[in-house]
Amino acid sequence: MYKKIIAFSIAVVMMVACTTVPITGRRQLSLVSDAQMQQMSYDAYDQFLKENKLSRDAQATAMVKRAGQRIQRAVEQYMAANNMSAQLQGFQWEFNLIEDEQVNAWAMAGGKTVVYSGILPVAQNETGLAVVMGHEIAHAIAKHGNERMSQQLAQQFGGQTLSALAGTQPGVAQNLIMTVYGAGSTLGLLKYGRNQESEADQLGLIFMAMAGYNPQEAIPFWERMEAKSGGQAPPEFLSTHPSAGTRRANLQKYMPEALKYYKK
Ligand SMILES: [Zn+2]
Repeated sequence: MYKKIIAFSIAVVMMVACTTVPITGRRQLSLVSDAQMQQMSYDAYDQFLKENKLSRDAQATAMVKRAGQRIQRAVEQYMAANNMSAQLQGFQWEFNLIEDEQVNAWAMAGGKTVVYSGILPVAQNETGLAVVMGHEIAHAIAKHGNERMSQQLAQQFGGQTLSALAGTQPGVAQNLIMTVYGAGSTLGLLKYGRNQESEADQLGLIFMAMAGYNPQEAIPFWERMEAKSGGQAPPEFLSTHPSAGTRRANLQKYMPEALKYYKK
């Protein structure tokens, strides 16, 4: 009898604590509210911008903001067309280019995005930049940070809520936010899982295509990233990404769908 009640309770918790990823429809663990993830991300983002240098390259900065805003509009259109606009509630989109030679970029809950100047030579142009920003924004839309935060709370912090952790160990909670988005230092970096990477590729292709960027440019972009990985492994990508062959096969699989959204 008790066992049944416990099993039932766990089932209820799992139902309540799950959300569904847009486009792919995958169910994911979610022990943290969107509002809370957004608030912590906004604080961490402000802190990050204080501690880092914005790029002084006006042209490159404008390109990052333009690509970001075009992708933002694409996401908003996609979500509206699929009755999922509620998932964008509380978003405070922002796109900044920082002066940092790391080959990196990330987007936090609520659309707070950073591109590092070190990735621009790999991007080569605005379309290449749209590949990487589409991919990062897709991580945020699919709430992968929320999912990883939930997993960390369950595995490492005895299932505490994020508010409890933030109350007792604010520094740890703040670090965790940075870490789950690939924005922390390389030390103790968490990896996006393989299914999260593949989802970000799939969603990112669709968003960039809807924003008017040719999604086929994603294949040479990831090849350039791969060529770059001979050296150091930058935080978000090379330490975690699927093998080049797997990524290419995935991109080719999703390409026909993405091309439907691409209007020059
Ligand atoms: Zn990724």
